[in-house]
Amino acid sequence: MEMTNRIEMDGAKNIVLIAHDKRKQDLLEWVKYNRPVLRAHKLFATGTTGALVEREAGLAVTCFKSGPLGGDQQVGAKIAEGALNVLVFFWDPLEPQPHDPDVKALLRIAVLYNIPTACNRATADFLVASPLFHGHYARIVEDHTRARDAFIAARTARTG
Ligand code: PGA
Repeated sequence: MEMTNRIEMDGAKNIVLIAHDKRKQDLLEWVKYNRPVLRAHKLFATGTTGALVEREAGLAVTCFKSGPLGGDQQVGAKIAEGALNVLVFFWDPLEPQPHDPDVKALLRIAVLYNIPTACNRATADFLVASPLFHGHYARIVEDHTRARDAFIAARTARTG
């Protein structure tokens, strides 16, 4: 039986941008530099990051709530639904955040769903320079329905 699913990603990606406060300048510079490339994609962001990108880079962004107010969790849910397929998340490696559990949860979901994820500028540069950024790509995601079905079958056998 198939143990993995392949999730198709078209040329135009749904890219989510997030930066902690001390990394926002870095992200804005990266977005402005890559503006011609990013225009071909659909952009999403947490509240403050998105507002800054719209205002300073002039790009249309669909904004979620601010990260500390639940935005990271909204982004994680959208990744789980398959609605977002690239994560650019410049998190702060030097300062604890009030919503650190949400940050960890989002990074975990991004790995689980095999989303291309850039947490610093060099990786983001490599990402936009890849032909896959503009082309078709099929992500492989583990299919956990077998484990679920096995759990239910074992429970049914025990409890009838
Ligand atoms: P913000 O959230 O874009 O609303 O600042 C970012 C975050 O802290 O996750």
